[in-house]
Amino acid sequence: MSVRDLIILGSSSQQPTRHRNHGAYLLRWNGEGFLFDPGEGTQRQFIFADVAPPTVTRIFVSHFHGDHCLGLGSMLMRLNLDKVPHPVHCYYPASGQIYFDRLRYGTIYHETIQVVLHPVEKEGLVEDDGNFRIEAFFLNHGVDVIGWRIQEQTTRKFDKQKLSALGLRGPIIRQLESEDEILFEGKTVRFTDVGWKREGDVFAIALDTLYTPKLLELAKDAALFLCESTYLDRDKKLARSHRHMTAKQVAEVAQRAHVKRLVLTHFSARYQDLAEFIEEAGAIFPQVDVAEDLKVVPFLKREEC
Ligand SMILES: [Zn+2]
Ligand SMILES: [Zn+2]
Repeated sequence: MSVRDLIILGSSSQQPTRHRNHGAYLLRWNGEGFLFDPGEGTQRQFIFADVAPPTVTRIFVSHFHGDHCLGLGSMLMRLNLDKVPHPVHCYYPASGQIYFDRLRYGTIYHETIQVVLHPVEKEGLVEDDGNFRIEAFFLNHGVDVIGWRIQEQTTRKFDKQKLSALGLRGPIIRQLESEDEILFEGKTVRFTDVGWKREGDVFAIALDTLYTPKLLELAKDAALFLCESTYLDRDKKLARSHRHMTAKQVAEVAQRAHVKRLVLTHFSARYQDLAEFIEEAGAIFPQVDVAEDLKVVPFLKREEC
């Protein structure tokens, strides 16, 4: 099985600190690398994380505030330098096209790699390529900002005992991976007689938003939910005026959306110690972790959570 994890490349909000780089998150999943919101210095964080940049197959930008995209240009240039053979898909709010273009072509640069643009104009399904289904949710941050819900494809699982009881093996099983029933030794065998469908896991991410009920739909049943939690509840007035969330609010979303595991990130530079975030969120939703630079969070299958 290919590696499944979330690597925190940075966890600060607008202002980086001595211990927190601008945000950037790499999700390794089913042979792909999803890079979210590459802030300043992301390229160097890959070195510290000991991950090769060509792992990246898709880049997502939630919105075009600097802490979420200033590393976009340098990451694209790095992938170009590394001559990645695969296309690099980029997803971002369509209204930010001018910023995307400026970041992409901000310096002298001869682009040879294939960059596939996915400017997102409206909420809903962005892409379903058979491997992943990507949905966009426009959140509430004063500028266009997108939360992403990504689900892997449904797969067919087989009960080995039932297969052998019917004498099924080899290529005939592969046939049942795509067909609902087959003829075997004169008898009809239905897929449901020997197997079941496993709905793909969901990864959800929301960076920079006020609370909105849409978050419940975005994160529904997610195996892993990565969410901004810029402030603590005691600073909720600041959270509101800067259009961000508190740890308490995020924990309530995770609980109501039946998330399996929650990771908080995008912390204000005013907080040195993150223990209070765990305490505040954990009182409502115990399966919580905080992002710290270079931390690797396992992305467990929901039945393993
Ligand atoms: Zn931010
Ligand atoms: Zn922002």
